Amino acid sequence: MSNNEVELGASCEAVITESKRITPEKRDEVREIVLRISEPSFRFVEGQSIGVVVPGPHPFGNKHHMRRYTIAHANVSGRGESVDVSLLVRRCFYIDEVSGERYPGIASNFLCDAQPGQAINITGPYRSPFKVPADINSNLVMIGTGTGIAPFRAFIQHIYEQKGGWQGQVRLFYGAKSGMDLLYMNDQNDDLTNYYDEATFKAFNGIAGKPLVGEEKALQDSITENAKEVWGMMQEPNTYVFMAGLTKTSAATDKAMSEVAGSEEAWKAAKEKLVEQGRWSELLYS
Ligand SMILES: Cc1cc2nc3c(=O)[nH]c(=O)nc-3n(C[C@H](O)[C@H](O)[C@H](O)COP(=O)(O)OP(=O)(O)OC[C@H]3O[C@@H](n4cnc5c(N)ncnc54)[C@H](O)[C@@H]3O)c2cc1C
Repeated sequence: MSNNEVELGASCEAVITESKRITPEKRDEVREIVLRISEPSFRFVEGQSIGVVVPGPHPFGNKHHMRRYTIAHANVSGRGESVDVSLLVRRCFYIDEVSGERYPGIASNFLCDAQPGQAINITGPYRSPFKVPADINSNLVMIGTGTGIAPFRAFIQHIYEQKGGWQGQVRLFYGAKSGMDLLYMNDQNDDLTNYYDEATFKAFNGIAGKPLVGEEKALQDSITENAKEVWGMMQEPNTYVFMAGLTKTSAATDKAMSEVAGSEEAWKAAKEKLVEQGRWSELLYS
């Protein structure tokens, strides 16, 4: 079933309370958008996603346009009457192959243009594709770009706070276009810095820095710099790999890992083994 044909489950209303751009003007626009949900039966946790339903009419006679966004933060109000969820939304555009014209992505532009006070319809919650391994000695390798940081923030908080005492090694590789794009990780909203003291946690932020270099190249370089360690970890049966963000994240990782594996074929075989053994999960979107 395609994204557009999906039948919507129960939906409820959410009100936008905040919308702020977190990337600099000359870069892709990513906004942090906060929604207040006052429907008592809807309860969310970070790392899950919600569906945002865009009001029609839609092109090509599509009945619905619903797209999913990961909950980066969730705060239940003091008396439990409402929950505030924060989303990180990248404003998408695509080029029509036939006409060559540039079209705005429907849901991401709807969300990025929405103003505080506006009510929207949401569905879900939907489960995170990333399952925390039961064994606290498991090693975790997280690889992401852009808004793909949202499920990892939730994941890292979960293992160090809710679960506690994580013994396995945790590595986060995150590619960004500029230091400014790392804002979400570094400002007062950022809880990842809380874990830099954990002996098992290391984060590697690749920053492109140059105008024509994308976040995926920055990610590739930061994996290459640490490829031996990552490759070594992947050979261990208790290492799990998680990937999130734009589809190009996958190609960038393949390039970096093919080098250390010795060839594209060797990396392909190693990755297939990880998938077969249930040690590879990904959440990729265009
Ligand atoms: C579980 C999950 C979690 C996600 N979390 C996030 C998140 O936290 N933040 C985030 O920003 N995104 C997230 N996404 C991606 C998000 O759901 C949307 O896919 C994204 O915002 C684009 O949706 P859109 O409606 O704006 O664009 P659409 O209008 O659906 O277009 C999307 C893309 O489809 C292609 N496309 C569509 N129509 C055409 C056409 N006619 N011709 C050529 N190409 C076309 C283009 O590549 C375009 O960029 C997530 C996706 C999933 C599955």
